[in-house]
Amino acid sequence: MLEIVRRLAEAYGPLPYARRHPPVSELVTTLLSHSTTDLNQERAFRALRARFPTWDDVRRAPVAEVEDAVRVAGLANQKAPRIQETLDRIADDPRGSDLEWLGAVPLDEAMAFLTSFTGVGPKTAACVMCFSFDAHIVPADTHVHRIALRTGIVPRGSSATAAQERLTRWTPVGQAFATHMRLIAHGRTVCLARVPRCDGCALLEVCPEGRRRTRATRPKI
Ligand code: SF4
Repeated sequence: MLEIVRRLAEAYGPLPYARRHPPVSELVTTLLSHSTTDLNQERAFRALRARFPTWDDVRRAPVAEVEDAVRVAGLANQKAPRIQETLDRIADDPRGSDLEWLGAVPLDEAMAFLTSFTGVGPKTAACVMCFSFDAHIVPADTHVHRIALRTGIVPRGSSATAAQERLTRWTPVGQAFATHMRLIAHGRTVCLARVPRCDGCALLEVCPEGRRRTRATRPKI
């Protein structure tokens, strides 16, 4: 097992899988997440659900009304039509408009389907599969990507997709959701974007960036 994954498991303990949203809701909420904060993403999602009782109502509504509902998440003029286009395609799919069928097909097939939507990249698709189905894939958002680069999970300059692939390969089956959640917790509390708290970090001994930073800040005797 990858030492970093093991150390994170020790530091953050067990995080059992729990479904947050059904797949269509997960897809919509991740479409709302681009270039905004978690709080505003959540606000926009709640506003959308409060204004339109069903996803059919969302896709049939005038785009300006959907834009209005999700405005707090920013880029509403892009996100609203994208959500409607996505819902239109899902509604036409003979396998089921609730997307529950994604949990019954091979992961590659599910990922290919999801990434065929405009604005749905590997990270968004991975979020849907990991959070709605507990699939074996570790989504690499900005926190996960940053930690992967700093710890050398992937070489400097690697993309978030490369980090996602490698972490998924190195994470034991059944631990993808927990590993993602632990990395997010670590990125939010310890491996901060601007000034990481390397002293006391559970990954310091195996993290090249942490060793470099702590060496640089220690006084020479
Ligand atoms: S040692 Fe520092 S750079 Fe490395 S993971 Fe920990 S906080 Fe991040």
